Amino acid sequence: MATPNPSAVPRPNLVGLGRTALAAEMTAFGAEPFRARQLWHWIYHRGATDFAAMTSLSKAFRERLAARYALRRPAVSRALTSIDGTRKWLLRFPDGQEVETVHIPEEERGTLCVSSQVGCTLTCSFCHTGTQRLVRNLGAAEIVAQVMIARDALGEWPSPQADRQVTNIVLMGMGEPLFNYENVAEALKTVMDPEGLSISRRKITLSTAGVVPMIRRCGAELGVNLAVSLHAVRDDVRDRLVPLNRKYPIAELIEACRTYPGASNARRITFEYVMLKGVNDTPADARELVRLLAGTPAKVNLIPFNPWPGAPYECSPDAAIAAFSDIVFAAGYSAPVRTPRGRDILAACGQLKSASVRLRKSKDEPLSAD
Ligand code: SAH
Repeated sequence: MATPNPSAVPRPNLVGLGRTALAAEMTAFGAEPFRARQLWHWIYHRGATDFAAMTSLSKAFRERLAARYALRRPAVSRALTSIDGTRKWLLRFPDGQEVETVHIPEEERGTLCVSSQVGCTLTCSFCHTGTQRLVRNLGAAEIVAQVMIARDALGEWPSPQADRQVTNIVLMGMGEPLFNYENVAEALKTVMDPEGLSISRRKITLSTAGVVPMIRRCGAELGVNLAVSLHAVRDDVRDRLVPLNRKYPIAELIEACRTYPGASNARRITFEYVMLKGVNDTPADARELVRLLAGTPAKVNLIPFNPWPGAPYECSPDAAIAAFSDIVFAAGYSAPVRTPRGRDILAACGQLKSASVRLRKSKDEPLSAD
């Protein structure tokens, strides 16, 4: 049997490790505890991709580190920029799996939309990602790496305190973050650390389809903002749109939101509502939504449905969306209609990964024809 070539075994990567993991790694390496703090600064504040750049460490120590460890980013297999300035990166991990990360620049902020899983198990009937099976959870380092890649591409090192292009993070990419809670939590702790990437929990929003038993823990442990993909006000309709509703129906979901730790009128829960023609978009639906939200610090995001090839739905007409928004707004809730961003690069809600899957399919076709 051939002996494996030791140089073919990749060196362990330090980028993406949390504080505890990095400290443990340095202890095992025989370094003093303050070394872990220095490395943390270089990796997460300065964005170093090379040990040689870590000039506050002795040359001998840098060389020892470089012989043992790597400072790797995932490969960017595609980078696209929309005519509206939205950017999308397709990241490829060493096992060949890919996820997408999207940056949405606005007047006053820049939001990074981060993925938590490769694919998704939820099978929401209006979501393109839902038509792809779950391949695997992302590790904490792979979630952190999405922020690192965006900072690299936007030239945001050292981590700026003002005039940032990445001011906000939303876990609204591929996957259900509360089905990968441990890794998401570890990653967010790294992202929030004030001596590193330093994005405050107030600027981070986790979006869930409604994994009720995990909602309280998320609020208590992470203190991030919560967004809930509600999309329907009756269980029979929501059962069809978001099959997870059969397990955690609307009443239980709303109750978990009402008691979400940290929610207040100053920090409201976002209810996402995709507008589907003839399915969930009547004035009666809007009035029922208002009734459901009574007593919950809430705001509503109305998302025009983004169609995809073969989708069994159409987007509601503008007039229906406006009428819906007016009813919710008149009841005292903010109810903006989200303008789709990055449509030309398939970066809009529910479309992530579709391009790469199509690419792979078209590559596969000649093979199967052979
Ligand atoms: N699993 C999490 C996060 C990913 S989805 C969740 O369900 O919240 C991010 C948001 O995009 C969700 O509100 C989702 O319902 C919405 N979305 C998915 N497909 C869409 C589509 N085709 N058009 C508009 N919004 C969509």
